[in-house]
Amino acid sequence: MSIEVKDLQVAYGDHAVIPCASLNIPKGKVTMFIGKNGCGKSTLLKAIARILPVSKGQVFLEGQPMKQISQKEIAKKIAILPQSPIVPEGISVQKLVSYGRFPYQKPFSGLCQQDYDIITWAMKKTGVYEWKDQKVEALSGGQRQRVWIALALAQKTDILLLDEPTTYLDIAHQLEILELLKQLNKEEKVTIVTVIHELNHAIKFGDHIIGMKEGQILFEGSPKEVIHQENLRHLYDIEATLIQSEKGSYPICIDYTLLKETK
Ligand code: ADP
Repeated sequence: MSIEVKDLQVAYGDHAVIPCASLNIPKGKVTMFIGKNGCGKSTLLKAIARILPVSKGQVFLEGQPMKQISQKEIAKKIAILPQSPIVPEGISVQKLVSYGRFPYQKPFSGLCQQDYDIITWAMKKTGVYEWKDQKVEALSGGQRQRVWIALALAQKTDILLLDEPTTYLDIAHQLEILELLKQLNKEEKVTIVTVIHELNHAIKFGDHIIGMKEGQILFEGSPKEVIHQENLRHLYDIEATLIQSEKGSYPICIDYTLLKETK
């Protein structure tokens, strides 16, 4: 396992948004978190990356309790791309990607040649190198998302967490981002963990699916194991019609109706 979450409780003030969650994120795979808005997916992702404090329970990284690992060391192992990150005004693509090297910099020292090589590699890998001197704010949504992924890649971590990386993108750009993530997973062996809303994308690109409802883990497993009518009824309150993909390797949701009004 890459990450193991045991009896985790995460709260905002007195409100335990996640009362007690346990789950496993397999190493070298693509894991997709799915569930309705507000069920706690982002909160869980942030708690795993230690951006949010944990009230109870533990997160283990490669078997080691994360609370024993310093924030700087965690940043060398886990990169997180939040939902709609804010682009600093006037920043160039190369400069933004260079922020990925922060965890490796010593106080008062700048970037070294190795850092520049990694920044260039990350930009080439994500297809943003040709825009390296352009301002990030002038890029399209899909291009900008690739720049953020380049930043995360420059951090040279084994694990990449992404919170809804495809939101606001059209279908072609959604697929481009998901294919890029799959490629990074295959070629660079990065463990990818993504919160995603599009059910069929989660099924098609995920090796491991985690379904969350009201702060609880409802199910986890391969798309074939966990994506069926009963689980989707519980997860989204929808009646889904599913077929198998051409090779039968994953289900596809071809139709759905709402069973009751969503909150
Ligand atoms: P999801 O990612 O599944 O949409 P979130 O993790 O963003 O869900 O939110 C889970 C719950 O926690 C929601 O009820 C939301 O209103 C609440 N919440 C999220 N962020 C905060 C915050 N900073 N302070 C208080 N409550 C929050």
